[in-house]
Amino acid sequence: MRPKRFLSLPVLAVMLLMMFVYYTTIYIFIDGSFGLQSSHGTFNAAIFTLLASLSVFSFSVCVLSDPGHVPSSYVPDVEGQASKDNAERKKCDKCYGYKPPRTHHCRVCKKCVLKMDHHCVWINNCVGYWNYKAFFVFSSYASLASIHSTILFICSVFLMDRESVMGSSSKMFNVMYGTLAVALTTTLLTLSGWHVYLILHNMTTIEYYEGKRAKWLAMKSGHSYRHPFSISPYKNITSVLGPNMLKWLCPTAVGHLKDGVSFPTLRDSS
Ligand SMILES: [Zn+2]
Ligand SMILES: [Zn+2]
Repeated sequence: MRPKRFLSLPVLAVMLLMMFVYYTTIYIFIDGSFGLQSSHGTFNAAIFTLLASLSVFSFSVCVLSDPGHVPSSYVPDVEGQASKDNAERKKCDKCYGYKPPRTHHCRVCKKCVLKMDHHCVWINNCVGYWNYKAFFVFSSYASLASIHSTILFICSVFLMDRESVMGSSSKMFNVMYGTLAVALTTTLLTLSGWHVYLILHNMTTIEYYEGKRAKWLAMKSGHSYRHPFSISPYKNITSVLGPNMLKWLCPTAVGHLKDGVSFPTLRDSS
């Protein structure tokens, strides 16, 4: 747990943005169009508060969790001189330790991260084996909250317009919020969609780009390339979100994760 990770401009900017969207949605759009005391108002405020709280909670888990470090006792499983030479090549030239499969060195965190996906400035942390689920869950909750806020914004624009009580400053605010809502929703949906694709194929963002190159090289030499860790869509999903479907959207339900230094491959299952 590193609470100091919150002390970064992008992280504080995300927190401020979440607070701004929450305040505006509840006290301007819901209260302005339905009234917070009405049944419609209370119902929407409760749903939005739940989505916003789950977003903040999973965001905090992403920031505070260790993304996954290589155990100091880790040595690759090798036999014979050729494999030993191969293992030497898998040493990190910055940490001087062995790198398990799917591990990469992060230049920002200055360490090797297990099943590294990418370094994310918005959480001031790497996204790796231990916090990938929280990251995905955060992007899903934030997408839902953003869609909900956009719908409530549109409702309030129509309801307030009908009553023709809008001054020019309110109109200006609506144009600005509308632009923000569309940009935010599009970004979050693209991010979640991208990670749904990666989870279904059991790939990290780094592996996606490495795979593209490997495919091109294989094609040039007349071979075919398949990502070795993709077993079946269902197994790929459960390897990230866990075997219990009821816990798929809980960012801290990570009991299914192991040490993160070995992963089943297509070869093991055939
Ligand atoms: Zn390293
Ligand atoms: Zn990093």
